[in-house]
Amino acid sequence: MKHSKTIAIIGGGPSGLMAADILSANGYQVTIYERKATFGRKFLMAGRGGLNITHSENIDGFIKKYGTAASNIKPLIDKLTPNDLRQWCQSLGEETFIGSSGRIFPKSFKASPLLRAWLKKLEKQNVIFKVKYDWQGWDQDKLIFKADEDITHVQADATLLCLGGASWPHLGSDGSWVNILKREKVLISPLKPSNCGFFVKWSSIFAEKFEGKSLKSVTLSFQGKKINGEFMITKNGVEGGAIYALSSFLRDEITRSKLAHLTLDLKPGLSLGEIQKRLQKPKAKLSTSNYLRKTLNLSDVAIGLLMELPDRKTLNDYSAEKMANTIKFYKLKLEDTFPIERAISTAGGVSFDAIDDNFMLLNKLNIYVSGEMLDWEAPTGGYLLQACIANGAYVANAIITQDHNKNI
Ligand SMILES: Cc1cc2nc3c(=O)[nH]c(=O)nc-3n(C[C@H](O)[C@H](O)[C@H](O)COP(=O)(O)OP(=O)(O)OC[C@H]3O[C@@H](n4cnc5c(N)ncnc54)[C@H](O)[C@@H]3O)c2cc1C
Repeated sequence: MKHSKTIAIIGGGPSGLMAADILSANGYQVTIYERKATFGRKFLMAGRGGLNITHSENIDGFIKKYGTAASNIKPLIDKLTPNDLRQWCQSLGEETFIGSSGRIFPKSFKASPLLRAWLKKLEKQNVIFKVKYDWQGWDQDKLIFKADEDITHVQADATLLCLGGASWPHLGSDGSWVNILKREKVLISPLKPSNCGFFVKWSSIFAEKFEGKSLKSVTLSFQGKKINGEFMITKNGVEGGAIYALSSFLRDEITRSKLAHLTLDLKPGLSLGEIQKRLQKPKAKLSTSNYLRKTLNLSDVAIGLLMELPDRKTLNDYSAEKMANTIKFYKLKLEDTFPIERAISTAGGVSFDAIDDNFMLLNKLNIYVSGEMLDWEAPTGGYLLQACIANGAYVANAIITQDHNKNI
């Protein structure tokens, strides 16, 4: 089925590729424009961690992960569910499995075989690939691209912007579209780091000793939310899975109050009472560090954290009750988020108030948006890729329906 309608998809990440897949399978003349020399660089980077493509939790819990944007994301996930995504992976030759945490990965634990098969399929469906095409905005209703220092103008019946967020900018998405869309009066919430690390003012002794080490089996709590897990100490802060899970709340608190106090339970396996009981044991000639190591099996990093307390010099004189409370309710002062460039994903973006139900910009006819560039965020766990890919599919189908209704 050959179609006369032309579709320009800008951005060759998972969202754009899925839209290209559906539109080209339906006979549209699709061209994907990508500023980098190859497609899906961030997708490939996600593959380094095994490519956690979606999650197996029940669908209500799944949708809640999108927080305040849950009602905007639900229609996308309803139309392309985590199971649909698994089947789609299988159709490209990549079986998936559910890991012990409920996260879903391809069996190969990589993104490259999936991406290769996907691009091959698009090629067969006659998608035209344009790489090193950097979109600069519009000249009237024509798209402007900078390609090898030349400026090219392109006209398409419909355009889909899938330009990503602003994290890991060397992979292609740097949020440069914000200024272009702001010039067009599109409502955009400021881009912010999501699933990010945080600055902590460590002493130089602590930073030198523990940089790169993980604090394992701890419980983190903030504003009534609790996460069991681990995180890493960096030269000037903390980052990693358990921190990312609370990062949106911590970030918003820092915006409000200039800092956030994260509570750590450094020994979640023992109750407060049990710790107190163990700490009744005489210290004899042991140093505080050795005593805590022997009586509670506290890790070196956890002991190091206690040594970071402002009153560390009096640690020796802590009562068993005070020490137990400090271990169970350790307050870690977070000064700021790490920069967006270092975050896993981006919060903020094109406001849902700026688009219609088909994800078309209200003030730009036949210009659609999809993926991480929209104003939503979600924790790691496969929720990001699921939403970006489902969004690409949703918009592609919306374009097809609108075309059938003669609205394009
Ligand atoms: C280290 C890391 C690990 C991750 N792991 C996971 C994971 O395991 N599971 C998960 O769900 N998510 C993960 N993510 C997040 C996930 O990769 C992203 O949410 C997803 O790739 C976003 O898809 P997208 O298509 O919206 O944007 P992107 O993948 O960012 O693609 C956008 C594309 O647009 C191109 N582009 C941008 N501007 C222009 C322009 N002006 N002209 C032309 N082209 C342009 C970019 O070069 C890019 O190729 C991870 C992210 C990182 C950084």
